[in-house]
Amino acid sequence: MEFPWVCSECELEMVVPKPVCEHARCGHIGLKSTFETDSGQECPHCSQTEGETPVTTVGVLFQCDGCGEVFDVPPESCA
Ligand SMILES: [Zn+2]
Ligand SMILES: [Zn+2]
Repeated sequence: MEFPWVCSECELEMVVPKPVCEHARCGHIGLKSTFETDSGQECPHCSQTEGETPVTTVGVLFQCDGCGEVFDVPPESCA
């Protein structure tokens, strides 16, 4: 699956939409991937697991898989 956005940092076409989650208990918001651990979902801020308080998807950010840069809106496409 290809996306049209080019990263403004490394100029690779590896910018993809990523779900953003909020931890209901502490209000921490971050990329869903930062909540995922080997043993399941866990808040990176307060270290509670999903079983104790829900982690909900609240939106989407755009992240470059090449360099890891995160964008609120996708960079302008040059295509
Ligand atoms: Zn938390
Ligand atoms: Zn990049």
